[in-house]
Amino acid sequence: MKIQFKHNGITVFESSLYRTTTTIIELGESILIIDPNWLPIEIEYLQNYITLNYNDHQKYLLFTHSDFDHILGYGAFPGAKVIASVAFVKNENKNEILDQILEFDRKYYISRNYPIVYPATDIVIEKDYYSYSIENFECIFFNAPGHSKDGLFMIIPEKNLWVAGDYLSNIEIPLIDDNFESYTTTLKKAMEIFTEFSDVHILIQGHGDITKERAEIQQRIENDTSYLKMLKKYSLNPNQIDLIELEKFVLKYANNTELLDANKNNIRQLK
Ligand SMILES: [Zn+2]
Repeated sequence: MKIQFKHNGITVFESSLYRTTTTIIELGESILIIDPNWLPIEIEYLQNYITLNYNDHQKYLLFTHSDFDHILGYGAFPGAKVIASVAFVKNENKNEILDQILEFDRKYYISRNYPIVYPATDIVIEKDYYSYSIENFECIFFNAPGHSKDGLFMIIPEKNLWVAGDYLSNIEIPLIDDNFESYTTTLKKAMEIFTEFSDVHILIQGHGDITKERAEIQQRIENDTSYLKMLKKYSLNPNQIDLIELEKFVLKYANNTELLDANKNNIRQLK
């Protein structure tokens, strides 16, 4: 499995599918595993990596949100303490999410040697600034709805680290699967977090390339904010000129027409 980044006990793995990231963070005699994903061979790679490097460490699992691609590895890491948001725990679509995993596996003839179940959460993040320490490392959490209802941001100040889930990607436009207003509020919150935690300069997002530069984090927040503004403007008054401008902006994220479909979904979401 591709290792995209390795520094100061932070290792970011990248799946061949959708460039989805899995992160393992070393925190003393513990490790925090974030969104382990996708293919069986990739999950196996992660398991072996952990056995080789962190066999005796206490394991924690963080799920940034409940999209099926982010939770499908859960069953492969038994015994880990699970961290997720209160909305993740209360999610009413658990069966639908599990069905999406099973459907994916059926479609590609994938068989897994671990059970597909919805994660049971041990540590429930109730509110913004919720603090949970793993050994001497403080992890600070923020609710981040908009992409999904149950998204989370996590900051680890001592690691200068921000884990953003499916926000602030460099290769994906905002995917508004939950709600436009919530997404806008979450981006405002992102800018506040960026300002408040002025030593944070490593950003890990769910898909694409991590960044180590504050200037780029700021740029990503601004890009996504601009996109939402253009999307809103277009949806209030649909016209060809604004659509062309919007689609041009979308293709700056990545020259991939899939993003135009994602943009259409967002337009539908706003109707
Ligand atoms: Zn995702």
